[in-house]
Amino acid sequence: MKNVPLYIAGEFVQSQSDQWIDVTNPATNEVIAKVPCATADEMQQAILSAAEAFKTWKETPVSERARVMLRYQALLKEHHDEIAEILSQETGKTFEDAKGDVWRGIEVVEHAANIPSLMMGETVENVAREVDTYSYIQPLGVCAGITPFNFPAMIPLWMFPMAIACGNTFILKPSEQDPLTPTRLVELFEQAGAPKGVLQVVHGAKEQVDVLLTDPVIKAVSFVGSVPVGRYIYETGTRNMKRVQSFAGAKNHMVIMPDADKQQVINALVGASVGAAGQRCMAISVAVFVGSSQEWIPELKEALAKVRPGAWNDKAAAYGPLISAQAKDRVESLIASGEAQGAKLLLDGRGCTVEGLSDGNWVGPTLFAGVKPGMDVYDQEIFGPVLSCVEVDSLGDAIELVNNSPYGNGTSIFTNCGGSARRYQHEIDVGQVGVNIPIPVPLPFFSFTGWKGSFYGDQHAYGKQAVRFYTETKTITARWFHSEMEVDANFSIHLR
Ligand code: NAD
Repeated sequence: MKNVPLYIAGEFVQSQSDQWIDVTNPATNEVIAKVPCATADEMQQAILSAAEAFKTWKETPVSERARVMLRYQALLKEHHDEIAEILSQETGKTFEDAKGDVWRGIEVVEHAANIPSLMMGETVENVAREVDTYSYIQPLGVCAGITPFNFPAMIPLWMFPMAIACGNTFILKPSEQDPLTPTRLVELFEQAGAPKGVLQVVHGAKEQVDVLLTDPVIKAVSFVGSVPVGRYIYETGTRNMKRVQSFAGAKNHMVIMPDADKQQVINALVGASVGAAGQRCMAISVAVFVGSSQEWIPELKEALAKVRPGAWNDKAAAYGPLISAQAKDRVESLIASGEAQGAKLLLDGRGCTVEGLSDGNWVGPTLFAGVKPGMDVYDQEIFGPVLSCVEVDSLGDAIELVNNSPYGNGTSIFTNCGGSARRYQHEIDVGQVGVNIPIPVPLPFFSFTGWKGSFYGDQHAYGKQAVRFYTETKTITARWFHSEMEVDANFSIHLR
């Protein structure tokens, strides 16, 4: 049994808190660690340490900051399997999926290593007679990040490498459900040569998050998690004059045109709906068939019925357990509501068991047909291995359905017609669109651009937008005098 440490001023320290939360292995529900709710004093120490470190880190040359990221990227690759094992243990993800979680974070660190070119400002010579204007990108100060359980490597790595590469210092509050992976990420960051105080890790829940949202030292807050918490973070953070980016829940539709390739569609739907037990913000949870779904559903059902969950090191398992017993109960009660509200339950994942792991939070692949808006399985983010099938008459109806959803994280269209794909990508009010790609998560040189109820804020994660989020722009207008130059008094605002 491990007591998860805090990380303050470059030291891993045991919290003095009297409130500790159990961390469980979701495949067995055994308690594998305890995570503290940091005390008010510990929260202040973390904030003060970050503020102190900012004074020197912001003066550290950008090329040196980039080199920390290069060393960090190499260490993460060297320890890729070991991090993935820790991640599997506390999330239940299969080893391959856990490696994917780490890999998508490593890609962001690679992007952060490009920080010298990402932080280039702009220049224009002769904006007026012998006057030049140029801009610099400067760090903000102390930034904070609050992360969800479902990607304990990737999402912390969306945040602190970009913020720190920009010259800020950072306080990370990982999910209390899987804090062991972020702890390992931070140990490696220290080994990469990050100076003391540049990164701190605090643990806890609402009370600790509230400190980060209200303390005046903190300039910017990044959040990823559920809709109600995301709204709260955005409203509270901005009310306290902070810059906030808040990535929230989702409900992603995949539109299937009658001309799409059948096997590609079935493969995409199976992997994108039940992969990671459906616990992905970009999971496909609604299949929208244009025309009749009858020619698709029997094969889809057959393919889903073959999929089974299992232990992290079971190579035949497609996905692992849900994160907690409460998450399992919630998903099972949503399945019951689907049936009660008139959807046709074609595959029922309730009561699923895995041999030798009878206490795990297992839910089998679940398939509904005849789903309509207004049913809970359509309206709510289920966050489980449940796929709902909807029928519409035309591409225009599919676009209207998706655009009426309050969420806008991701969507995709499967078709062999360029015209349908072009119309869909243009007219759809969703921030990330896949064409014959079910989960279109952009690589880090682009940004992760959820829309509508899936994102509150302006600047998104990674890419160029993260640099804008974590920096200020300073614009300088300069004139240097020389002997042959005469400048009269100017009584106008017009720069001549
Ligand atoms: P969550 O909202 O329960 O928790 C997220 C974080 O917020 C955790 O660190 C938690 O400790 C903290 N928190 C919880 N309640 C709080 C409160 N009342 N006040 C302040 N902080 C609080 O989310 P989760 O269950 O860990 O993660 C799953 C959710 O995250 C899903 O809704 C999923 O769609 C979403 N998600 C979104 C994206 C995206 O990019 N849009 C990515 C990943 C996950």
